[in-house]
Amino acid sequence: MKSKLIIKIIVFGFLAFQFSFIAKTQDTTKYLAQNHTKNQKNMSTTNKFEFRPLPFEYDALEPFIDKQTVEIHYGKHHRAYYDKFMSAIKGTEMEMMKITDIFKNISKYPVAVRNNGGGYYNHTFYWEGMKPKGGVLPKGKLSEMITKTFGSFEEFKEQFSEAGKTRFGSGWAWLCMDDKGKLFVYSTPNQDNPLMDISERKGVPLLTMDVWEHAYYLKYQNKRPDYVDAFWSLVNWEEVVKRYENALKSESLK
Ligand code: MN
Repeated sequence: MKSKLIIKIIVFGFLAFQFSFIAKTQDTTKYLAQNHTKNQKNMSTTNKFEFRPLPFEYDALEPFIDKQTVEIHYGKHHRAYYDKFMSAIKGTEMEMMKITDIFKNISKYPVAVRNNGGGYYNHTFYWEGMKPKGGVLPKGKLSEMITKTFGSFEEFKEQFSEAGKTRFGSGWAWLCMDDKGKLFVYSTPNQDNPLMDISERKGVPLLTMDVWEHAYYLKYQNKRPDYVDAFWSLVNWEEVVKRYENALKSESLK
């Protein structure tokens, strides 16, 4: 009798131990799962506005844009806009917003967001719109629309170049599409862009050219027009066509 009781106690004790072990394991699993989700959320937050790698080597745009200019322009200027933009939006609703939605409401936010958010976005758009040995605009919808809008491709180039050459001080030249699907050439001061609510003309950017002195000064010094002429040898038209096709599909036209 006594030994049976002892066995019962041992079995019960063992089961109780097993149960508490399983419960603990489940707790740990739950904790890990929660933490994993939390970490993932944090990661997606910090990675949301990423400083994308340059799509080519520093010297890939030679001889039109020299290696040192690209190195400093991307690694120092662009990087600084990105870092300052990240600190300007830290702890605000903007951390979870799309950059285009921030731009749509830019007049409501501090000027540091306008300058550094613009600087961050415009530069990424500029780099990705260029490539070594930039090509010729492929025949298709965009080339037809350019001819229809500007009279000829040469006339479009002339207008875009002029927008860059005559932008007083620092800024950008743009080819955009407005909400009716019409193309237009434009230029913005500082780090503004046509996605911002403060821009007089608004549209979806298709191509941009940086005409800040830091974009050309080391090689061209005061000769901005020479840099503007050289820019045409670097345009990544395949990318511009892709942007145009996306813009046609985008919500803004509906
Ligand atoms: Mn720049």
